[in-house]
Amino acid sequence: MRVISSLCIYCGSSKPQPRHQEQAEALADILVSQGIDMVYGGARAGLMGFTADAVLSRGGRVIGIIPEYLDKYEIGHTGVTKLHIVANMHVRKMMMFDSSDAFLVFPGGYGTMDEMFEMLTWRQLAMHDKPIIVVNIDGYWDPLVKLLEHIVQQGYAKPETKNLLHIISDVSEMMGLFKDMSPPDPSPPKVWLQA
Ligand code: AMP
Repeated sequence: MRVISSLCIYCGSSKPQPRHQEQAEALADILVSQGIDMVYGGARAGLMGFTADAVLSRGGRVIGIIPEYLDKYEIGHTGVTKLHIVANMHVRKMMMFDSSDAFLVFPGGYGTMDEMFEMLTWRQLAMHDKPIIVVNIDGYWDPLVKLLEHIVQQGYAKPETKNLLHIISDVSEMMGLFKDMSPPDPSPPKVWLQA
């Protein structure tokens, strides 16, 4: 079993679809009932802000991390439990990584994909063994899954790397995944690079 006390959520800073909002609310219910903190990019905008508000309105804890220069575009969420305003994007992403036991990817845009791929490639390079869960709501991430299969099929990633992402279609599957996972590995995990 993998004990998770803080979950990093990567998702869009743009206006969310109604179905994505439903899943954000369902996730908020789970986080609050399980006592899991939400870690995220600290914005008030889009699905990011919506998910943070859903957790806060249920009495949960939310830790936001936003770069100073982005604050004017994404607008820092001042109502979160703790908002860290940091020097730049690299510090933000590192702090989000360090503060979290696992990562959950909701629908989003380029920034969401950048964050997801960074955690995936770090995992491939054996820099961590934290779970990465992709919530494929109504097939939103189907093209991504297809692309990953294509990359493996063409020999640019090992077939085993497909297991590095856990694809679920509903947040209700998340706690079951953690239950079935082994505890963090104290020895370095395997490097999945091609020889
Ligand atoms: P998006 O999915 O494009 O709406 O972005 C979601 C979050 O990812 C936002 O908080 C962005 O600031 C963040 N993000 C992280 N890395 C990047 C990047 N390399 N380019 C753009 N946005 C990024």
